[in-house]
Amino acid sequence: MATFIVLLGPPGVGKGTQAKILANAKKLAHISSGDLFREHIKNQTELGKHAKLFIDRGELVPDDVTIGMIRERLSYADCKPGAILDGFPRTPIQAVALEKMLAEFDGQVNIVPYITAPESVVVGRISGRWTCRLNGHVYHQMFNPPKQVGVCDIDSSELYQRDDDKVETVTIRIRVYLEQTIPLVEYYRKSGKLVELNGAQAVEQVSKDLCQVVKN
Ligand code: ADP
Ligand code: ADP
Repeated sequence: MATFIVLLGPPGVGKGTQAKILANAKKLAHISSGDLFREHIKNQTELGKHAKLFIDRGELVPDDVTIGMIRERLSYADCKPGAILDGFPRTPIQAVALEKMLAEFDGQVNIVPYITAPESVVVGRISGRWTCRLNGHVYHQMFNPPKQVGVCDIDSSELYQRDDDKVETVTIRIRVYLEQTIPLVEYYRKSGKLVELNGAQAVEQVSKDLCQVVKN
């Protein structure tokens, strides 16, 4: 049976960083809803143009659009063994839709690691985040700097600061998280699948804790 792991946590806590490490270690696909939206925006698709209106404001993209995009991604062959879901679901409605979709693939959500950190920590991580233009590789000006300022180590493309990582939008994203995603934390807590992790540690320590939790 396929394995599906949902990573929850506030914006900037390190979900993407940890999802990549875990997906590699477990040979599972990595599905990042934010990366998928940014890919659509880069390719100027209709979905991308629509999603951008919400993303630029720091709001959630409507559920139907988001769910449709994830449904398509889940149908790719690399998801057969399972996937790490990073950024989706973000609302209880999305979580119910996910359960239905996974049932079609003979799967279910196995575990929900919930990575937490104080607001000051996540704000510091977001404000120092630099993202690569070509493939979305992520750096931090202090905690994970590239070898050369402004250039991706992996594909040499330009590093940029996401528009929605600017301070004004971050405040809105954190509010949206508290209002719309915290109910999802409670939903998974009730289901018994939630496991809390301390995200306010070095990347390697969070990875160790996460691997342990997934193994158990
Ligand atoms: P973060 O770094 O906050 O975790 P993401 O890259 O996951 O950010 O998401 C960036 C933006 O994309 C969000 O602020 C939101 O507008 C949109 N988005 C991503 N995932 C979802 C989702 N599951 N539902 C609705 N909107 C989403
Ligand atoms: P999210 O996907 O939750 O928005 P990211 O994985 O993109 O978060 O991480 C946000 C920023 O913080 C990035 O610049 C990343 O390099 C950095 N980062 C991630 N995890 C840690 C950590 N444990 N300690 C310090 N910086 C981190």
